[in-house]
Parts: sequence; C-alpha cells; structure tokens
Amino acid sequence: MTTGIRGRFISFEGIDGAGKSTQHQWLVEHLRAQGREVVATREPGGTPLGEKLRALLLAEPMQLDTEALLMFAARREHVELVIRPALARGAWVVCDRFIDASMAYQGGGRGLSTTRLSQLAQWTVGDLKPDLTLLFDLPVDIAMARLFAGTQNPDRFEREQAEFFERVRATYLTIAASEPHRVRVIDAGLSLSEIQVILENIIASL
Ligand code: ADP
Ligand code: MG
Repeated sequence: MTTGIRGRFISFEGIDGAGKSTQHQWLVEHLRAQGREVVATREPGGTPLGEKLRALLLAEPMQLDTEALLMFAARREHVELVIRPALARGAWVVCDRFIDASMAYQGGGRGLSTTRLSQLAQWTVGDLKPDLTLLFDLPVDIAMARLFAGTQNPDRFEREQAEFFERVRATYLTIAASEPHRVRVIDAGLSLSEIQVILENIIASL
C-alpha cells in the first residue's frame, strides 16, 4: 500500500441534484486524457450483484435497517471485487458515492445510529478510505430544482422531502469539517466549467 504504485481513490459525494454524476464523468475523461488507467464506478452498484441491489434500493420500499444492510452488502462486493484490485494494480478509482453517503443518508437522513453504521463500515471495508473526497455542496432548494428539471422518474431517495436533504447535507458538512484533509467542499452552485477548473487544481495537487 505504501510502495507508491498504489492508485488513487477519489469519491464524489453530495445530495441528489448537486452535480456529482455530471462532474464524475468529466473527471474520469480528464484523468484518462492524462494517460491514467481509471476505473469509473458508483455506489450503490459497481458489480453485477451490486447493480441488482442498487435497482432494489432505489425502487423497493424496505425497512430502514434493511436499506443500510443492503448498501453495505453491495459495498462489500464492490470493495473486494473492484476497488481493492484496481488500486493494487495502480489504477485510479473514481467512485460516485462511497461510505460518507451511508453516514449522510442512512445516518443523517434516516436517523440510524452512526455507531452501528461505523461498525458496518469497519466490517465491510476495514481501513480503506478515499484519498480524496469531493463534496458537492449546494442549498437543498437549488438541488431539488435541478432534479425536477432534469429527472423524469425520481427514485426512492430523490422523492424525499427537503428536510431529509437538509439533514443529509448537514451530515456531509460535519464529516467535511472533521476530516478536512480528505474531504474538499466544492461550491456546487458554480458553473460546470468553474467547477472543472477547481477539480483540475485539486487533482494536480494530489
Ligand atoms: P447528482 O449526480 O449529484 O444527483 P447530476 O450530475 O445528475 O447530480 O446533476 C443534476 C442536474 O443538474 C442535471 O440535470 C445536470 O445537468 C444539472 N447540473 C449539474 N451540475 C450543474 C451546474 N454546475 N450548474 C447547473 N446545472 C448543473
Ligand atoms: Mg448522480
């Protein structure tokens, strides 16, 4: 892990509608243009089983604990089958959401115990953490307006009320404040190109 050939692990976080997936795609292309091997992936998902679990998680009503357990089950597959092997061979992993999303959505949003979620995180991924987390921060009303403008069929999370997203956003900002070296807060209200300049600079300093 400390040989210098290990790749970098970058996660994208933020509430629905903040612009993660748009910039995730851009960053992946930017890094590939630099000649790097990049594994572009997402959570929940990223493996065949994980994508099946994603479809259930985004559509099927379920108990709150079930939701958390399925998120971490999908994550275990993802970490073992995709993320660790990629990092070990020196590839960069650029992931749309990771553990912080469980803390923010299942913890902050749904109100599950953060102690339990941390135990699940320890069980499923151990000490693996992103080298860099890009937190796309945006007021909830703006994010919801973007979602309404851009999404035909909102999923089970996107249909949540503003108060839910306020709790998710606040949890993300608390995580960012507690781990300032890992988590960079991006003003997601800026234009696409302004954000891309910021991302370029952050990546250059990695
Ligand atoms: P997320 O993956 O965080 O839910 P998306 O990348 O899907 O967000 O973006 C949600 C919507 O907002 C899309 O319609 C996208 O085109 C638009 N969008 C993304 N970034 C910006 C931005 N910086 N300014 C204006 N609109 C944006
Ligand atoms: Mg997205």
